Amino acid sequence: MDGGRKRAFLALAVAVSIALGTGVAQASESNNAHKTVRGRVRVTMTMLKGGGMTADVDIVPAHGKALRVTNSAQQAALEAHPNAEVAASGTAVGGSLSLTTFQVINDGNPRHLGAQRLAVIKLEIGRYPIKNIGGSVQSVAFRGKQSLATMVANESRGALTITGDEISDTLPAGMSRTCDANYDWADYLYGRHPGYDLYAIVTDVACGQVAGQAVIGGAFSWYYVGMYPEVLFHEVGHNLGFHHASSLDCRDATGYPVSLSSQCTSYEYGDRYDPMGEGSAGRCTYNGYDRLVAQWPESYQQVTADGDVQLRAKNLDADGLPQAITIAGAPAQYGGFFWLEWRTDDMTTCKQRKDHGLQVRIVANGAGEGNHTYLLDMSPDGGTLHRPGRDQAHYYMPVGQTFRDPLSAVSITLKSEDLKTGVAVVHVGFHTAP
Ligand SMILES: [Zn+2]
Repeated sequence: MDGGRKRAFLALAVAVSIALGTGVAQASESNNAHKTVRGRVRVTMTMLKGGGMTADVDIVPAHGKALRVTNSAQQAALEAHPNAEVAASGTAVGGSLSLTTFQVINDGNPRHLGAQRLAVIKLEIGRYPIKNIGGSVQSVAFRGKQSLATMVANESRGALTITGDEISDTLPAGMSRTCDANYDWADYLYGRHPGYDLYAIVTDVACGQVAGQAVIGGAFSWYYVGMYPEVLFHEVGHNLGFHHASSLDCRDATGYPVSLSSQCTSYEYGDRYDPMGEGSAGRCTYNGYDRLVAQWPESYQQVTADGDVQLRAKNLDADGLPQAITIAGAPAQYGGFFWLEWRTDDMTTCKQRKDHGLQVRIVANGAGEGNHTYLLDMSPDGGTLHRPGRDQAHYYMPVGQTFRDPLSAVSITLKSEDLKTGVAVVHVGFHTAP
């Protein structure tokens, strides 16, 4: 029996303590700059215009200034705990913290559930007029079939509803106009417009290559070149706890493209079916795994033995069937679990809405804020380079096709699909390939 596949998805106990370099911490006790700070982990995702991404990690105490974590390995470890309350020790110089150890006191939980209020604040900074809003704020954020509020209400089955206001404001004289003052702007606007759960701050400020920013699991998002709808979906997704929807480009030993191997390169924004992936997907819906992250209702089934499973289309009511299948055995470095969902239709604004088939992603064991998803290429034939911009049909498994993970005994076949009933049949096997 393969012990790996006996692991229960979501049954993991959250690790509550992580120690890094404890010896270093003890050695530096005599240093005056050494301190322990208790606060919330604030992970700010920055989306660059060219599609690149950076993450800044701060520890924000209840009182006092945020400290930016400057050493990269520890930054990456903390990035996995967005919005958690931690006790962190390290060497502080100015607003920077070189972290040596941290302990998670409370892991971050979704804070955006129920009836939430969003303030879309058009912030005139007195230099550039706001333009390129990408439609009216009302139609992009609040009202109509293509709005953020409608997508979220549908995807969450009503677990999250967003209403709110469109507000115009002006940055006061004396406050920095450059976008590295974005938290100061947020503090200022929060004070002037209290009572909202989410704040989308829209400017036209020419922030270098930065298009948008958001705090994972937080309240704030920023838009520096106006607010395009797909960017709003993306940044608010970060506020809901989501990391990026990535993809894998894998090769066999000869360099030929395959769905999965031990030689994969991940593309940070490579999933073009998801607003947490590439923006050019248009206004799509978040993937089913992110429903779990947000603690929205999601009907899924963990499969641990050979058999056929009926799978309901993701965008329809579950109707007693699972809308996703999860299977242990995927490469641990990407999360360890396959996550299957059958897409038939999406929002009319999603450019891939005419495609249908099975999507296979790799996700983490359990759903925590700040976890990536990794979409696999289900038709990696023809030698076409797998890269953003490629024919998106490659990411769907068509009827009759089988994916065999060369690294585990898992095989996945889409046996049939019925677009009228919205039910597909997936065969999951655990045979070792001959
Ligand atoms: Zn992002």
